[in-house]
Amino acid sequence: MKHLYLHVPFCQRRCSYCDFSIAVRKRIPAREYVDAVLGEVSLLGVADPERKPGECEDLGLETLYLGGGTPSLLPPEAISALLTSLRDAFHVTSSRDAVEVTLEANPEDVKPEIAAAWRRAGVNRVSLGAQSFDDRVLQWMHRSHDAARIGDAVRALRAAGFDNISLDLIFALPAELERDWARDLDLACALLPAHLSLYGLTVEERTPLARWISRGAAAAPDDERYAEEYLLAHIRLAAYGYQFYEVSNAARDGRRSRHNSAYWSGRAYLGLGPAAHSFDGRARRWNHAAWETYRRTVAAGLPAVEAEEVLTEEQRELERLYLALRTDRGLAVTDLYRPLPPSTAQWVSRGWAELRNQRLVCRPEGWLRLDALVRDLTGTAGAV
Ligand code: SF4
Repeated sequence: MKHLYLHVPFCQRRCSYCDFSIAVRKRIPAREYVDAVLGEVSLLGVADPERKPGECEDLGLETLYLGGGTPSLLPPEAISALLTSLRDAFHVTSSRDAVEVTLEANPEDVKPEIAAAWRRAGVNRVSLGAQSFDDRVLQWMHRSHDAARIGDAVRALRAAGFDNISLDLIFALPAELERDWARDLDLACALLPAHLSLYGLTVEERTPLARWISRGAAAAPDDERYAEEYLLAHIRLAAYGYQFYEVSNAARDGRRSRHNSAYWSGRAYLGLGPAAHSFDGRARRWNHAAWETYRRTVAAGLPAVEAEEVLTEEQRELERLYLALRTDRGLAVTDLYRPLPPSTAQWVSRGWAELRNQRLVCRPEGWLRLDALVRDLTGTAGAV
């Protein structure tokens, strides 16, 4: 296992569309958080009597991802303490930048001195939650930054030595916002990030957005707008030199996310922190989601894992299909248990997928229809 994910649950407020497992706090309990995570690490280590407390399996770590929540709300000293302790606990001996260390950050948290401290702590990739360059849209989303902060944050990161910066954007917003998606894409590309992640808006239960829609104050997202904006992003980003290497992710100069690529290749990973998930190739485990429950459980010396699910052969096969087809490597035809169905020819003739070196690879129109393609390949659907 070479991939470590750390969930930092704290946010200063809840964005209108977000149903993530977060803890909204005015004051960030950084010391308690660091103690809890290092406590969890210790408990992993003592499961093996051969190891000293706090000493864990040598993962041969390749990637470490601090996601959330809002990891950038942790003070830089807390991030530094965490990274140092994790490197020790997992015996990381390689040079600092040999491990991809990503920090998710909100633009308003990025200041020149803070960015410099992150870099000194060993962070070498920052994923910024930009979402839009339209102040009206950002307010609607309940984001805490305005559009100008995004450029300021990118410049502060570059000055601190970060050359691997990713921006997140959300598309397919309700029509009444009259969001100019092409303008947002242009403004994002003008900042020359190495990487872009584009997510279509989804309506999750118990979010402010779901309530607005149920009382008629916002229009439900519509599939046509989703498809139009998704395809526009492919055209626009290609013109700026970005290559989509996964349904929602595009990179230039080969700066793909190594951490997320590990997920998409079905590799094992270890998750730490509240709500973090782990996968060992056979079973998925997840930690207690609520921050206080997680903290108290670990403080009592109990494992943070709340439950686990052992995947059946069928689930693993389905997951393998989905993951392979999400990426630009596609699915090796020889990996399928059954011959390609005749409908595959229609996918190819319609330009939704292509057969390349014995691999079935989705094109953007195919990525919009991924569920249907998987149903076709598994024989659980009729003709296209
Ligand atoms: S900052 Fe991110 S995790 Fe926090 S509420 Fe907003 S979208 Fe959710």
